[in-house]
Amino acid sequence: MSKPVIATASLAGCFGCHMSILDIDERILQLVELVEFNKSPVDDIKTITKPVDVGLIEGGCCNSENVEVLRSFRKNCKVLISLGECAIMGGLPAMRNGIPIRECLEEAYYRSPTIDPSDARIMPNDEDLPIILDKVYPNHEIVPVDYYLPGCPPSADLIWKALVALLEGKPLDLSYGLLKFD
Ligand code: SF4
Repeated sequence: MSKPVIATASLAGCFGCHMSILDIDERILQLVELVEFNKSPVDDIKTITKPVDVGLIEGGCCNSENVEVLRSFRKNCKVLISLGECAIMGGLPAMRNGIPIRECLEEAYYRSPTIDPSDARIMPNDEDLPIILDKVYPNHEIVPVDYYLPGCPPSADLIWKALVALLEGKPLDLSYGLLKFD
């Protein structure tokens, strides 16, 4: 019997949530027995090559490329999990949401310290660069999301329990200790 397929991807995040996946330590050997990994920074497979049963996505959407990657990922995943606060509510990158985008860009490119001896202040505008969005969007505002695993990052135990429950078709019975973060 073929194993369930898992994929992971990162948008506007710091890869801390992916580090937390790796933090399941030796259980990763069990995971490899239980599932087949497809596209993921964990195995460095760059593109989805078959239908995915469970997709985990880290980070929210701060630019047009994030939106494109998220929509394509959603299309290929039967179940989509928003992994961590950036995916669920924008997280740290969303701290810019209260500031007009022009002001953010001017602060970053015109007013911040530079090591460029010419002190040229240039706003990047190459056509190959993804277009920055007016604000950082949580993923469920762009595509339907099935589950949310909170935390910054979610703990390895939380990720492990949630994945095993999903793979075994059992309800997600997560204790308070796994969901509190102080
Ligand atoms: S939720 Fe935290 S750990 Fe995960 S990508 Fe965002 S900042 Fe990084």
